Amino acid sequence: MPSFQTVRGMRDLLGEEALAFTGIIGKARETALLYGYKEVITPVVESFELLSAKSGEEIRQRMFIFKDLGERQVALRPEFTASIARLATTALKNEPKPLRLFSAGSVYRYDEPQKGRYREFYQSNFELMGSSRPEADAEIVLLTDSFMRSLCLRGYAFKIGHIGVVRGILSQENVDEKTQNAILQRMDKKEYNEAFKLAPTEHCRNMLEGLLQLKSDDCFETVEKIKAYVATDEIPKAAADNLGDILKLVVDGGCPIQVVEPAFARGLEYYTGMIFEIYIPELDIALGGGGRYDRLIELFGGEATPAVGCAHGIDRIALALQAQKNVLSTEGKKRVLVLAVNDLLKGEALKIAQALRLSGVGVEFEVMGRKMGKALEDADKRKVDYAVIVGERELKEGAVMLRNLAKREQTIVPIKELAKKFSF
Ligand code: AMP
Repeated sequence: MPSFQTVRGMRDLLGEEALAFTGIIGKARETALLYGYKEVITPVVESFELLSAKSGEEIRQRMFIFKDLGERQVALRPEFTASIARLATTALKNEPKPLRLFSAGSVYRYDEPQKGRYREFYQSNFELMGSSRPEADAEIVLLTDSFMRSLCLRGYAFKIGHIGVVRGILSQENVDEKTQNAILQRMDKKEYNEAFKLAPTEHCRNMLEGLLQLKSDDCFETVEKIKAYVATDEIPKAAADNLGDILKLVVDGGCPIQVVEPAFARGLEYYTGMIFEIYIPELDIALGGGGRYDRLIELFGGEATPAVGCAHGIDRIALALQAQKNVLSTEGKKRVLVLAVNDLLKGEALKIAQALRLSGVGVEFEVMGRKMGKALEDADKRKVDYAVIVGERELKEGAVMLRNLAKREQTIVPIKELAKKFSF
């Protein structure tokens, strides 16, 4: 038999890594509760038509697409928003607005594998549907801030912009949507020269180039510069004003926005308003991002519904925590092994293990039939904290031997008081 490996771009998550992933998703879920987002679980496989409708050329070309046995053209989801928009036009169509939805799970893109870029990766995803107000945009940024804070990530910075500024400039020059998307896609990759070459007029090219020069260290100053720059053009001016309103609310909400990017673009095509990304100094790839998409639900046949959302890359957050030597706290979680001194006491030992589990104490039970010495030696190697040793003599007194493996100390503890010993 060949020795099987994972498929390129796919990874096994073991031990500490698996713990970190579930820990991070746990914090995202806590954030969802804090902000009133209800969790939904949608399928990994969706129709290709749905997933490709407005995701953008970049992602369309990187989807895992296949025909199922019923000849349906399907794909593995490359993100959550299309599935959530589908829900908003079907099962949740009549729900009162605003709709606040949270999801977490794996997504798939045929990216070139490298550090922080995989073909299967995990996201936590938040969508707020039904409001076009800046409060809604601010909420999505603020909940990302709360999530990062809950992970004790240090030095993270938000980059924020408004797709309406660039689209506005292009629309006023009558640039068609396809060309707009091609320009934005290149700007997203910072291929500015390539992007500007696609601008149809000299004026349009100059306007875009000029945008790049407006960035300053103070984010409010940058917004003022953008407003002044597009003051005579109605559509981009409205976008710049909107960005200013959102920025003010975000800062009022206690999140220091670090950078306003005047010519900011993101890979997904469906954005219509504010867009943002989040970074830490130790990594040059985004930990998460999102933005406003006011037309997607309508495109899926629903009522026109403004919406804003974001996705956080769990894999990259795990890398960020690692880079900052930050281990998600597992305080209070002691490992306990329960074992019997001989086979005849197995049943009694199991009763004690079950009672401990019922009171919320995590317990491993000796299942290898090892002699006491070997079992304790092995537990010590695996960094188990305590061994509960069930022996005849103590059992007669309604007690067990509790051994602290690190300290090599042991005491007799009444069974009734055992659970309390582990409630730190
Ligand atoms: P997006 O859905 O493109 O807005 O991406 C949201 C977040 O998902 C990004 O900021 C990254 O943290 C993460 N992400 C995107 N692509 C990948 C990938 N190929 N591997 C790992 N994480 C990714």
